[in-house]
Amino acid sequence: MENVIVIGSGPAGYTAAIYLARAELKPVVLAGEKAGGQLMWTTEVENFPGFKEGIMGPELMAKMREQAARFGANIQDKNVTKVDFSKKPFKVWIGEQERQAKAVIIATGAESMKLGVEGEDKFLGKGVSTCAVCDAPFYKDAEKVMVVGGGDSAMEEVMAVAKYAKKVVLVHRRDYLRASVAMQNKVQVLENVEYLLSHEVIEILGKQKTEGVKVKNIKSGEMSEMKIDGIFISIGYKPVSEIFRGQVDLDEKNYIKTKMIYEARVQLWLDEYPTMTSVEGVFACGDVVDFRYRQAVTAAGFGTMAALDVEKFLNK
Ligand code: NAP
Repeated sequence: MENVIVIGSGPAGYTAAIYLARAELKPVVLAGEKAGGQLMWTTEVENFPGFKEGIMGPELMAKMREQAARFGANIQDKNVTKVDFSKKPFKVWIGEQERQAKAVIIATGAESMKLGVEGEDKFLGKGVSTCAVCDAPFYKDAEKVMVVGGGDSAMEEVMAVAKYAKKVVLVHRRDYLRASVAMQNKVQVLENVEYLLSHEVIEILGKQKTEGVKVKNIKSGEMSEMKIDGIFISIGYKPVSEIFRGQVDLDEKNYIKTKMIYEARVQLWLDEYPTMTSVEGVFACGDVVDFRYRQAVTAAGFGTMAALDVEKFLNK
C-alpha cells in the first residue's frame, strides 16, 4: 500500500511529487504514457519565475521531473484506466494491475478542445492539427494555413506556423481577440498573418486530406469557402476528468470540485484541506480544477498546496 499516488505529471503533479518526496512520503507518480502535460507541446515559456531568458516547455518539465526523482519520487509513465474511491484504501488501476493508497492527488490537467465540425476527425493528422509546435514544420512554403481561436494559445500557434507557411489566416468567432496584449503584439508584427474575425469554421473540406474550409460570417450569415493546406485548432482546453466521473464531484464543465473553490471560508484555509475533493483523502490540483488562471506557475502552486494538504492529512 502506498502513502500517496499522484495521477498526472504536469507542473501540478511534479511539484506535488517534489514536496511529497521531500516529506519522505515516497510518492508514486503515475505520469501517463505522454508524461509532462501541456508544456510538452509548447515552445518558449517566458513567464515561469527563475528563468530570466525563458525556457523551452519540454525542458522545464524535464527539470521538474528530475527534481522530483532526485528526492525519491517513484515516477512511472503509465496511464490510469480506472479508480475506486468509494472506500479506503483507494484503488487505482493501470489496466489489470491494481494499486492501493491512503491518499490520492489528481493532477491530470487539461487537453485540447475540438470544434466538433464535419471533417475535423476525418482529417486529424491529415491537415488538421491541435499542435503547431509539433506539426508546423510540415507546412514549409505552404500557400495558406489557418489557425482557429482568439486566445494566447492561438497566438502561439500563429507564430509557430508563420515561420513556415507563406500565409496564415487567423479565424476567430468574435470581432476582438481574447489573447493578452503582449501576445497580440507579437503576432501583429508578422507580415504574413491575416485576420478573419467574426467568422466560424463550419466544415473542413477535402478528399484524402484537408484542402479547404467552409466558413460563416457570424454577423451577416454569409457562407464562403477558402482553399487551405492545413488548419490548427486552438480553441482552449477541457479538463481530463472522465475517469473520475462518479468518484468525485465534477462541475458542469467537468472540472473537479475542490473545497477551496466551492466551500471557500476562513476555517477551511486555517485548519482543513482546501485542495480536497468531495472524497476525504482524495485531492486535486492544477488545470483539472482551475478554470480561471491555468498557468504553469499557478498549477505548480496548487500542486504544492495539495502536497501539503496530503502531508497534514496523513499525519493526522
Ligand atoms: P482561451 O483563453 O480559453 O481561449 C480560447 C479561444 O478559443 C477563445 O478566443 C474562444 O473564443 C475560442 N473558442 C472556444 N471554443 C470555440 C469554438 N467552439 N469555436 C471557435 N472558437 C472557440 O484558451 P487558450 O488560448 O488555450 O489559453 C488558456 C490559458 O492558458 C489562458 O489563461 C492563457 O493566458 C494561457 N496561455 C498562456 C500562454 C503564454 O503566456 N505564453 C500561452 C498559451 C496559453 P471566445 O473568446 O469567443 O470565447
